[in-house]
Amino acid sequence: MAKKVLKFGGTSVGTIERIQHVANIIRQEKDKGHQIIAIVSAMAGKTNELINLSKKLSEDFNKRELDVLLSSGEQITCALLAGALLKLNIKAKSWLNWQIPILTEGEHANARIINIHVNKIDEFLKYGVAIIPGFQGVSKNGDITTIGRGGSDATAVAFAKLFNADSCEIFTDVDGVYSSDPNNIPVAKKIEKISYEEMLELSSLGAKVMQSSAVQTAMMYDIPLEVRSTFTNRKGTRIFNRQNIDYSKSVTGVAYSKDDAKITLIGVEDKPGVAANIFEPLNKAQINVDMVIQNISSDEKLTDVTFTIKREDLPKTKDILEGNKDVNYKKITHNEKVSKVSIVGAGMVSTPGITYKMFRGLADSKINILAISTSEIKLSVIIKEEDTLKAVKKMHSIFDLD
Ligand code: ADP
Ligand code: ASP
Ligand code: MG
Repeated sequence: MAKKVLKFGGTSVGTIERIQHVANIIRQEKDKGHQIIAIVSAMAGKTNELINLSKKLSEDFNKRELDVLLSSGEQITCALLAGALLKLNIKAKSWLNWQIPILTEGEHANARIINIHVNKIDEFLKYGVAIIPGFQGVSKNGDITTIGRGGSDATAVAFAKLFNADSCEIFTDVDGVYSSDPNNIPVAKKIEKISYEEMLELSSLGAKVMQSSAVQTAMMYDIPLEVRSTFTNRKGTRIFNRQNIDYSKSVTGVAYSKDDAKITLIGVEDKPGVAANIFEPLNKAQINVDMVIQNISSDEKLTDVTFTIKREDLPKTKDILEGNKDVNYKKITHNEKVSKVSIVGAGMVSTPGITYKMFRGLADSKINILAISTSEIKLSVIIKEEDTLKAVKKMHSIFDLD
């Protein structure tokens, strides 16, 4: 007998028929004698639908109430799945975040799970299936919180850790992690096993198949994960410790995101403290700056500073820069039609020439690089948004991922 955490994403529970199908998957596991904790997402599209409702009332909807609203999506799935299991004569019970409770810390919409009270559920697992809403919790003062988009993955990992589960399986609408998004890059190949580090880079750089904070927690506590399909029986992708993986390729995957924007401050005074003065107020406003480039401008006393941020932060960033009395510059320009394409691979550490090969490939495809950033196991470039898929496909072919 094993204790299993099974997480079902939005598409997997998107209709009543699919919820019945999930109930059957759980039944098969139960028949094998396993104890099951099922973590569920809102039905596909539900969270966006709720966000849009709030926007109809106000673009600046109260954050506490938004979390109350958004958490309801997962609650609907919980009740429906419990109902479907009961109909199959399987003992099952849904638990709302505050009934457990799942305790969180941090601000609304971006909280973190810090503890889960396990006793009641652990006792119940001896008899039946516990159905848990992903993506949410309750703060110390009793307010409902949500933990960021895609957060049901993080709920699953937190349950796997705190219940000491034997496995944590992420059921989704693809049958594993691919070398790139298989829905847009048809030649992408399924990866049989991948290290936490690579998965973390891929998901932070746009591969939404796993939420990055979930991977981070799994890596921190060494909780092996399996990403697999709700709709086929095929083996999925195992995500685990780097030592257990043999790297035959330098690049494991190519990720991309289209939610970046680039800002350039032209004609900034070139003297000590200027960068600090530019970025300090942005940091205070919790704007995440990604890549930074400083150019020597033709005038020796002046320089240009370019950096990238999330596209949704562009208006706020411009306001802050324009109101910043501590920085003198001639002009601000921005480009919101940019995307970030990244190659990721633990094998990159030991393979020389990867950077050159990537740049050569982009040049051959006539794609202009607007910014570059590197780390030990990833290399990212900012390019024009319209070139995204062309660049991803090119990287795929030159690094033998097709
Ligand atoms: P769920 O609702 O089950 O959490 P998500 O939509 O969050 O599912 O994640 C699954 C989606 O991630 C896939 O449908 C696919 O389009 C996308 N995706 C992006 N990059 C990758 C990748 N490298 N491998 C697999 N899927 C990817
Ligand atoms: N329903 C939430 C979202 O759409 C959480 C999740 O699906 O993981 O972001
Ligand atoms: Mg997801």
